[in-house]
Amino acid sequence: MSNKVLIIGAGGVGRVVAYKCAQHRDVFGEIMLASRTKKKCDAIAEAIHQAYGGRKIKTAKLDADVVEQTVALIRKFQPDLVINVALPYQDLPIMDACLETGVNYMDTANYEPKEEAKFEYSWQWAYQERYQKKGILALLGCGFDPGVTSVFAAYAQKHYFDEMHELDIVDANAGSHGKAFATNFNPEINIREVTQRGKYWQDGKWVETEPHEIWKDIDYPEIGPKRSYLIFHEELESLVKNFPTLNRARFWMTFSEQYLTHLRVIQNIGMAGIEPIRYKGIDIVPLQFLKAVLPKPEELGENYTGFTSIGNRIKGIKDGKPRTYYVWNNCSHRDAYLETGTQGVSYTTGVPAMIGARMILEGKWNGKGVFNVEEFNPDPFMERLTLDGLPWHEKVDIDLQMD
Ligand code: NDP
Repeated sequence: MSNKVLIIGAGGVGRVVAYKCAQHRDVFGEIMLASRTKKKCDAIAEAIHQAYGGRKIKTAKLDADVVEQTVALIRKFQPDLVINVALPYQDLPIMDACLETGVNYMDTANYEPKEEAKFEYSWQWAYQERYQKKGILALLGCGFDPGVTSVFAAYAQKHYFDEMHELDIVDANAGSHGKAFATNFNPEINIREVTQRGKYWQDGKWVETEPHEIWKDIDYPEIGPKRSYLIFHEELESLVKNFPTLNRARFWMTFSEQYLTHLRVIQNIGMAGIEPIRYKGIDIVPLQFLKAVLPKPEELGENYTGFTSIGNRIKGIKDGKPRTYYVWNNCSHRDAYLETGTQGVSYTTGVPAMIGARMILEGKWNGKGVFNVEEFNPDPFMERLTLDGLPWHEKVDIDLQMD
């Protein structure tokens, strides 16, 4: 098959997407990896060449903030699909380039303006009519969360519920990388996300909380109890829209005491700031400077041990009776590293991105316009998850331990 994909972004996630696409020659005929720093693309291409019997992937230098550059690269390479795993800031310019060239688009994180730490789907949903008219598809949020958690919700609705009423997405990273402080994906995006006010859906409206105000010790399979904090996460926005019977939807994430202490210090001394400050005649954004000195997420893998555990706990009704359902994946950082040279958080994001790309290229997920992952048939995606390295487990009618 001559399918061509253009992967944009050569960080931890881009590396995994490139590895996983390279494993499936029958689906991904030609692969190009393009990013701001070309030598990162070349290093990944070389590692894949070594790992997969001479498999070649093309590389290119690209500043995806500049629409004309992406348009020119798309015209030259002529991909069937653009997989955007750069940063959320690039979502709109890359969507614009796909629109101009008539190529399908997908990403793993919703758009966020650089100047304001605010992420929501409105900007990308606004492309609906233009994508429909152009006859192309945009698939939004196809990583793990959002992505697999969205597919889990669609799968639960399809096979286990007449109505879903309460959804708790529970996300634990019970891994240890041996650093005093590091983030598991892009530090700038990660710190912007976790220092935001909390927010959850309750009875038809959003309820806001102070950051990390609500917490709970949640028991994760094969890991045990971990303190988990209620934070806002982007899939909640599309899930309550696409599953309107949900009267409560929350997202919980584990943070260690050590991580939170560092985070508090970072905030207290102003290093989480996103407004530029003038230093020796140069404008510096404190958070971007901090990113430059923190460990790089893609380099955490070597000594990373332990697991991530992410899943959905759902209450609702089936055939007039109450029903509970828990579906989850545990991923080993070590196994992720041995397969792709990077840690579990990049792996759990990159694998679903490759599967989403496969769904589009094989025509299993198709349509014209802008879609969130849960709008498509979850079954073929769930089947691939296990085959591609993220096996999932489920339990029905158990005590979910979520009040
Ligand atoms: P990294 O910071 O490791 O990588 C980002 C890459 O994008 C870098 O190679 C960077 O280039 C490149 N890049 C940045 N700006 C541009 C630009 N203007 N043009 C071209 N390339 C650019 O991030 P991650 O790999 O950890 O994360 C990638 C994406 O995945 C993020 O959007 C993140 O939010 C998302 N994500 C989604 C998750 C999910 O489950 N849905 C979970 C984790 C992450 P350079 O090397 O020059 O800096």
